[in-house]
Amino acid sequence: MTGGFRPFLHGFILTLVLASAIAGGQRRQTPLRPDVFLITIDTLRADHVHCYGDRNIQTPALDALAKDGIRFAHAFTPSPITNSSHTTILSGLLPSSHGVTDFAIPLAADHATWAQLLKDGDGYHTAAFIGAVILDSKSLAPGLDRGFDYYDNFPERPSSASRWGRVERRGMDVVGRAEHWLDSHPSGPRFVWVHLYDPHDPYDPPPPYSQIYKDRLYDGEIAYADSALANFLDYLKRRSWYRNAIVVVVGDHGEGLGEHGENTHGIFLYDATTHVPLIAKLPQGTGAGKIVDAQVRTTDILPTVLDLLGMAMPAKLDGKSLTPYFLGDTSDRVAIGETDYPARFGWAPLRSIRTQDFKLIEAPHAELYDLQKDPSELDNLYAPGNPVAGKLDAILADSPSKMRPSALPDPKDKIQEANLLHTAMLASEDNRPDDARAALEEVLKLDPKSSTALRSLGELELNAGEYSAAARHMQQARETRPDDATTWLREGEARVKMGDFEGAREAFESSLKLTPGQTEARLSLGDVYLHLKNPAAAEDQFEAASLLDPNSIPAQLGTARALMAQGKTGQALQQLTPLTESNPKDPEIFDLLAQAYRGVGKPQEAEKAEAQARLLRQKNSE
Ligand SMILES: [Zn+2]
Repeated sequence: MTGGFRPFLHGFILTLVLASAIAGGQRRQTPLRPDVFLITIDTLRADHVHCYGDRNIQTPALDALAKDGIRFAHAFTPSPITNSSHTTILSGLLPSSHGVTDFAIPLAADHATWAQLLKDGDGYHTAAFIGAVILDSKSLAPGLDRGFDYYDNFPERPSSASRWGRVERRGMDVVGRAEHWLDSHPSGPRFVWVHLYDPHDPYDPPPPYSQIYKDRLYDGEIAYADSALANFLDYLKRRSWYRNAIVVVVGDHGEGLGEHGENTHGIFLYDATTHVPLIAKLPQGTGAGKIVDAQVRTTDILPTVLDLLGMAMPAKLDGKSLTPYFLGDTSDRVAIGETDYPARFGWAPLRSIRTQDFKLIEAPHAELYDLQKDPSELDNLYAPGNPVAGKLDAILADSPSKMRPSALPDPKDKIQEANLLHTAMLASEDNRPDDARAALEEVLKLDPKSSTALRSLGELELNAGEYSAAARHMQQARETRPDDATTWLREGEARVKMGDFEGAREAFESSLKLTPGQTEARLSLGDVYLHLKNPAAAEDQFEAASLLDPNSIPAQLGTARALMAQGKTGQALQQLTPLTESNPKDPEIFDLLAQAYRGVGKPQEAEKAEAQARLLRQKNSE
């Protein structure tokens, strides 16, 4: 299918090689590759973009890009949550295939990423600029940085009390950082991913968008994100890097805006949260202004780029190149949807399958919609034995996304709770504990056993210093979800503060039994064992933490403490000495070193270490 297009683009690349050979007066060995820019706009509903038919919003940058490129009118994400959806875009795989079905799940090393393929396959310089901490590869998106020379994570210890710079960056900040990187990496080829988080709630656009769109702030955020996109594209044009580049803009998912009762996104698989804008601008204006009406998927984006570059495809892909559409193909592709996000609240995960005509949603109460007659998906036609449902179900059953029937509650019956839990989460994130508590208490009125609400209340009490209340909430939360490692972890933290070290030991042990790879829990358990005068057990925990995170200073200091408590002062000294060189500004290391020197009968060295610790503390306080 792509045979007709590929020679064309290869011809284009060859033209560039010749042009550069003539300009430089010498032959180049490798073809000149186009730069590739991926811009993902978070939480962007297709029907809230001007060039997708919304006449009440101004999105001039997206509109202009569509004129310069190819606009896919019916593109669907398989996932309504940020991490899963972005992992799909970067891997060409469905969530069930890449495995990142919730936040903080690491992307397995055997799944190649876009950045890795371009870097290893063709020597691309690669960089990513993210707009939210949920895509931070140190915490909530481990493995997503694979293949990037530079991945612009958030600072380790953010000083800002406001959300800006701590959990979110404004679009202009993100593009500014990307432009700065491009300035310092002027020679190509380059692959740069820019993530504009702005339309994600809370909706808080800066002026003038806060005034122009004051009654619909979600649209204000979209218009603002569009202005950041404009800034970036203008920058590329000024540097003459636009015309030859491949530029892809895509939404990671949409937003419920109250449809089907869902305020935001993540729980449901209706078009409100799965239909996204997708625009691809090709080098030299190829295909400019084309609109593709056929149904396509965000899994198709990576294969398309690899196809355009004439690169080999990874062995496993759930998407297919979109280049046939550039040559006139009009066939629809079946779009699969998945969300496991409800499962984190104890509700059934959902699957969907969509053709241009029908959508089947697999849920405890299944749904079937005739999309031509009922595009808002309001009239559920599902009945057991329905032939359309049967046909769609068979396709799903044959896909990576197939799922066993769930006995958990249907998320449709829980959407009000989901909205309140989301409100509480945002309020906690923004340091408004009273608002969070009020929303959680509303959830408990609807479902007194909601483990998420109980756990979140426990966390609020923990932060407020109400430790026994916190421990009580965690115990209650576990009555419905006994397998939740986090409730045990938080109970352990509360019990440490209460001075109940035996209770804390049991809680941390239980948490680690469920999820062994928790560095923080190992460190806490090590400290608890020191309190319980069991330094050998403490040493084991600190050692385990060091194995999990070889750079962890607390783990290495903990090991030194546990060794000293066992009278193995010489070994502790060996542990500490290299740390004074790798971390010469940490007074705690010198305090421990002083203790160790005293233990081996070297008072002069001990005094020197103490003096150094005092000096460092003085410097740190200045
Ligand atoms: Zn998102």
